[in-house]
Amino acid sequence: MDILQKNTLLKNILEENLDFLAQTEDLAKDLIVKKLSQGQMVLLANPKHKIKPLLIGQPSSIKVNANIGTSPFVNDLKLELEKVEYAKHFGAHTLMDLSTAGNLDEIRKAILEKSSLPVGTVPIYAVAQKYIAKGEDPSQFSWSELLEEIEKQAEQGVSFMTLHCGVSERAVLLAEKEDRVLGIVSRGGSILARWILKNKKENPLLENYGDILKLAKKYNLTLSLGDGMRPGAGDDAGDSAQWEEVITLSELTLEAWKEGVQVMIEGPGHVPLNYIAEQVKVMKRLCHHAPLYVLGPLPTDIAPGYDHIAGAIGGALAALNGADFLCYLTPAEHLTLPSLDDVREGIIASLIAASSAEIALGRRPTQKRNYAISKARKELDWEKIKDLALDREMVCFRRADFEDKEECAMCGEFCAVKMLR
Ligand code: SF4
Repeated sequence: MDILQKNTLLKNILEENLDFLAQTEDLAKDLIVKKLSQGQMVLLANPKHKIKPLLIGQPSSIKVNANIGTSPFVNDLKLELEKVEYAKHFGAHTLMDLSTAGNLDEIRKAILEKSSLPVGTVPIYAVAQKYIAKGEDPSQFSWSELLEEIEKQAEQGVSFMTLHCGVSERAVLLAEKEDRVLGIVSRGGSILARWILKNKKENPLLENYGDILKLAKKYNLTLSLGDGMRPGAGDDAGDSAQWEEVITLSELTLEAWKEGVQVMIEGPGHVPLNYIAEQVKVMKRLCHHAPLYVLGPLPTDIAPGYDHIAGAIGGALAALNGADFLCYLTPAEHLTLPSLDDVREGIIASLIAASSAEIALGRRPTQKRNYAISKARKELDWEKIKDLALDREMVCFRRADFEDKEECAMCGEFCAVKMLR
C-alpha cells in the first residue's frame, strides 16, 4: 500500500515542502517519503489553510496539541484568540478548536485566520450544538447534517478531524456490560452512543465511512480516528469496550490507506502507569503503526488541579513506547476552561514529556539542546540558558531579583559550579 501514489494532492504538497520538512525535522528525505507512503507518518496540510505543513509520526519530533475553544459557561472569543497566540508562543505544534458555545462557524473561522498552526476539530460538536442549544435531543441529527458539517469545516481549512468512527453498536453494548466506573467520557463518543441506542442503528460515521474517505482525500484531511470508548477512570482501562473500538479502528485504518487517506489513532485516557507501555504498543500494532495521538494518558485520577503534571508523567512514558502526538492537559482539566496561564503550563508540561522521551530515544536535535543547556549551566551563561529553556520567560522571571549576580539565588556563595572552577 502506497498512500502517496493514491493521493496526488498529498504527493504535490510533499514535493513542495520536502526540503523544509527534512531540515526542520533533521531527517533524511527518503525516510519521510517512506514513512508517509506507509502511513506511519501523516502530513497535516489542508491547502485551504495557507500555513506550513506539519509532520506527525516518530522519528519526526513528538508533537504537542493545545485544546482551545468556548464552552457554554465560558464563552469569550477574544480569550480564545489570545490562546491561539499563547499556544504558538509557548511551543504547541497544533491547536484543536473544541468550541461548543457561540457562533461556531465564526469562532472556527477566526481561529483559522489567526493560527499559523494546523487546526483540528470535532465536527459532531457543531451538529449536536444545534440541538442542545435549543434544549433538544442531539440524537436527532441525520447523517447528511454531519457530512455537510465535515465538508464545511474542511472547506474552511481544518487539517485534522476527530471522527469517532469506531464507536460501534457492539462497543457501546460492551461498555454497558462492563459496568464501567465512569461509563463513556468522550463527548463525541457519548453523543454517538446516545444516537445508536435511541435510533437502534449502527454509528452513521461507521456506516458511511466511504463518504468520509472521499471528502478526506479531496482536502487532504487527516482523520483522527477518535477514541470514544477511552477509559475515563484508571479502573476502566483495558476493558472489552476499549479494545473493541481499537479493533474497529484497525480495519478502518487499512480502508483509509487503500483510498490514499491519512489516519491518526487517538489513544487513552486514564491508564495506570503499569499499563501505559502495553496499551501504546498494542494500539500501535493493531493499527498498523499509524501515528498515535494520546490524551494524557493520566496515570492517576486524584490530581484535579494538577492534571498537567499527571498527564506529563503518562505522556512521557507513552511517547517513549511509541506515541507520536501528545494532547496537552492543563491545570484546569476536569474543572473548568483553561485560562491563558493554564494553556502555558499545559503546553510546557507536555513539551517536558516529549523532550524527556526524545532524549531517551536518542533523538539528535533534542539531545543536542539538552547537552548545550548543561554546558551553559556549567558556564553560568544565563543568556544561553534562556535561549535553550522550554520557557524563556520563566527563567527571566525567576532570575529577575538577582540578575546582576553570576550565580543564582539558590545557593549564592555556596554555588557548587563556582566552587570547582
Ligand atoms: S547557585 Fe547553586 S543552583 Fe545556582 S547555579 Fe550555582 S550551583 Fe547551580
